[in-house]
Amino acid sequence: MSKQLFSKDDALQYDRQDPLARFREEFYLQPGKIYLDGNSLGLLSKRAEKSLLQALASWRENGIDGWTEGLHPWFYAAEKVGAMTAPLLGATPSEVIATGSTTSNLHQLMATFYKPVVGKSKVLADALNFPSDIYALQSQIALHDLDPHEHLIRVESRDGLTLSEEELIGAMSDDVAIAVLPSVLYRSGQLLDMERLTAAAHEKHIIIGFDVSHSIGAIPHELARWNVDFAFWCNYKYLNGGPGAVGGLFVHHKHLPQVPGLAGWFSSNKESQFDMSHHLTAAIDAGAFQMGTPHMLSMAPLIGSLELFQEATMPALRLKSLQLTRFMMDLIESELAGMDVTIANPTLDQKRGGHVSILHEEAVRIGKALKNRDVIPDFRPPNIIRLAPMALYTSFLDVFEAVHRLKEIMVNKEYTHFEKKRSVVS
Ligand SMILES: *Cc1c(COP(=O)(O)O)cnc(C)c1O
Repeated sequence: MSKQLFSKDDALQYDRQDPLARFREEFYLQPGKIYLDGNSLGLLSKRAEKSLLQALASWRENGIDGWTEGLHPWFYAAEKVGAMTAPLLGATPSEVIATGSTTSNLHQLMATFYKPVVGKSKVLADALNFPSDIYALQSQIALHDLDPHEHLIRVESRDGLTLSEEELIGAMSDDVAIAVLPSVLYRSGQLLDMERLTAAAHEKHIIIGFDVSHSIGAIPHELARWNVDFAFWCNYKYLNGGPGAVGGLFVHHKHLPQVPGLAGWFSSNKESQFDMSHHLTAAIDAGAFQMGTPHMLSMAPLIGSLELFQEATMPALRLKSLQLTRFMMDLIESELAGMDVTIANPTLDQKRGGHVSILHEEAVRIGKALKNRDVIPDFRPPNIIRLAPMALYTSFLDVFEAVHRLKEIMVNKEYTHFEKKRSVVS
């Protein structure tokens, strides 16, 4: 390794050459802070603020008529945001809708696609998945009067951090009805090969869906071409939609039109919704998977935020994200050598998502020490610190500075000044 790679001048040089550098000014960066937690809650952009204020102005000025008038008529906003999201997923607008949350969308998709029969009744998931997804799968199994202990298969991890695609495929037995897997694992940042897993599932006549919460806005997808049956996600992580932003779901066009498992009046074909008939005429696109009135004020920021993704484009964002995380890993390996800090994410470009994970037995306290030094990471039990440089607003200099401060924390054992207890929200 050349010494130069790690100098501050190099970081500044990378920033000067960065074609996406201008997007940093679109965000409200916290003065003096290096924010590396955009994979948990992305920062507010000026565009997102603007589109939220436009929704409020429409309410103020139009009252009820805001549903069909104003800059972004509310009645069509979920479809509009869905259409703006579709390019990030390699989907057509009719396959995507902004609605619900990660968890409620998983419930909706399971209610629609999980049809257990004797001999084909199991749900395939993994032992590292986010708890909410597992709870949803368990309750969906129980709703069919089946025993979750018996019917939920969780493929184990050998190292506690990553999953083996071979083992996931090996677990796709004939009695599996549906598989729900992450695209990028929330802890280690491992990126699974969705195309390969989908092909393997379909060979066994298994419906397969992905939770893309940690890949949407971080990596490009080709969900339609890969033949993925469905996907769901939240919009407050990489997509910067704000706390509790409305989530999204994708249903492959081969499954459309489809009667939703959980219907409501917003499942309706828009032309006939206000006929107020007790017979549902469902929308013929992914809009059918909506239930009730959209949470407009939690959706409006997405309109502005997604403009930034349209302008920056996913391939360019992925390229920069890979460069940022590569730079961070190189710095950690050289600056923190011999300090028991291990990189937990896969290091190959095609195997890692948008964040770097480091392991240390003092992770809780190191996370606190970083915050104390104005570097914002997050902590995931038992021993992981996640550092997510965002292609839209993190600079190479930020990465350089963050690792530099981490090094000082380690050298001076600054973390020993903090309590070994995680905060309520970490
Ligand atoms: C963030 C995240 C969630 C959160 O679910 P909500 O319904 O939005 O609270 C669920 N699953 C995964 C994998 C996530 O990354």
